[in-house]
Amino acid sequence: MLSPRKLLALAGIRPRKRYGQNFLVNGSAARRIARLSVAQARPGTRMLEIGAGTGALTIALLEEGADVTALEIDPELVALLRSLPELAAARIVEADASNFDYRAWSGTDAWRVAGNLPYNVATALMLQLVEMDGGPDALTVMVQKDVAERLTASPGTPAYGSLSVAIQYAMTVKLAFTLAPQSFFPPPKVYSSVVELRRRAEPAARVRDRTLFWKVVRGAFAYRRKTLVNSLALSLDIDRAAIVRALELSNISPELRGERLDLSDFARLADALAEG
Ligand code: SAM
Repeated sequence: MLSPRKLLALAGIRPRKRYGQNFLVNGSAARRIARLSVAQARPGTRMLEIGAGTGALTIALLEEGADVTALEIDPELVALLRSLPELAAARIVEADASNFDYRAWSGTDAWRVAGNLPYNVATALMLQLVEMDGGPDALTVMVQKDVAERLTASPGTPAYGSLSVAIQYAMTVKLAFTLAPQSFFPPPKVYSSVVELRRRAEPAARVRDRTLFWKVVRGAFAYRRKTLVNSLALSLDIDRAAIVRALELSNISPELRGERLDLSDFARLADALAEG
C-alpha cells in the first residue's frame, strides 16, 4: 500500500485532529475491510466511502472491483486523492458527510457504505445513514472499540443503550475485528473495531407509532440509575399513572431498569402507551 506518512510528507500536509485524521497504515486491515464491504453485495451495488483520507481503503475497495465514490471533507486531502493514478477509477467528492445529499447521489441504486469513520461524528453519521429513507443496504465501518461494543450490545450489559436499540432495530450487527492504535498514523488513544451492519428485510420489531417508540427508548435510558418507571416519568410528557398502566399491560415490571428491555419489550410498551 502507499504509505500515508510519505504521501502526507510529500504533499506537505499535517494530520488534522478536528477532522479525526488517523490514517490506516495496516495494508492487510484495509484489504480485509474492503473484502467484507463487498461480500454478498447485490449486482450493481454502489460503494460510498466516507472519509477517504490518503486513500488506503479506497484503493483496496477498487481492487475488490467496487464502484467507488469517496467523500472527503478536507480540501488538501481531496487534491492529494485526485492526484493519485491508483485512484483514477474512483469518484472523489469534496463533501461533509453530515450534510451530503445521499438521495441525489444514489438515486434508486442499491448502495453500501465503507469507511474508517472520523471518530467525532461516527455515531451521529451511522444513525443518520441507518434511519434515512432509501439508506444503504450495509455499512462496514471502523469505529472506536467502545462504540462497536455499544452497537453490538445485548440487553442487560453495561454497553447496551439507545444507540444499540436504534441500530439493531434496522440492522444486524457483527463485530469483525479490532485493531491496536499502532495500525494508524498518527496513533489514536484508543483501540478501533470494524463492525458489519446489514439491513434487515424487516425492522426487528413492529411498532404502531415510530416517533413514540423512539421517545420511549430514549426515555428508558435517560436516567440509567433510576427504575424504568421513574426514568420514563421524568423524560416523557406522559402521566405517571398512564406509564404504570402501560407497563402492566405489556407485562414489564416498573422496577426494572431500561437496560433490561429488549427490542420487542420496547415495542410492546410503546404500543401500550400509544393506546393511552
Ligand atoms: N479512510 C482513511 C484511512 O483509513 O486511512 C482516513 C480515515 S480518518 C479516521 C477519517 C477521514 O474522514 C479523514 O480523512 C477526515 O478528513 C475525513 N472526515 C472527517 N470528517 C468528515 C466529514 N464530516 N465528512 C467527510 N469526511 C470527513
